[in-house]
Amino acid sequence: MQIENNAVATLHYTLKDNDGEIIDQSEDGSFVYLHGAMNIIPGLESALTGKVAGDSLSVKVGPEEGYGVHEEDRIQEVPKDMFENTGDIQLGMQFHAEDPNGNTLMVTVSEIKDDMVVIDGNHPLAGKELNFDVKVVDVRNASEEEIAHGHVHGEHGHQH
Ligand code: ZN
Repeated sequence: MQIENNAVATLHYTLKDNDGEIIDQSEDGSFVYLHGAMNIIPGLESALTGKVAGDSLSVKVGPEEGYGVHEEDRIQEVPKDMFENTGDIQLGMQFHAEDPNGNTLMVTVSEIKDDMVVIDGNHPLAGKELNFDVKVVDVRNASEEEIAHGHVHGEHGHQH
């Protein structure tokens, strides 16, 4: 069957940046997701629509269809005192924070100054072009429960 909404697809994938460095790859050889449920970035999802088991594809995904553009206003300086309870602040540390709308987002410490810490609320891959090499391993219909939950159950999915 083809990959379409409410299909569960198993993939092998490798994600590289424009320099050919591997950013990410499917763990334990495979990655399983529910198509049409925003489980993966839109640019990759749309490229996979209509593919069948055995297909291989290379997809270049721009920031708008990936993890978003890099926005300067998501970068802010906060007093180091704010991190009193977290112990030693180090570059690259990640925290959950709340944006002004109350949404939880992940922020990364991008610079440490004398009294201030620069935190970046952009996704680490925001603004980057993403180069995926994907092989479709398996495609099946999702169960009603998986569709209702919006994610895959079973061996590689959620256990509950
Ligand atoms: Zn579930």
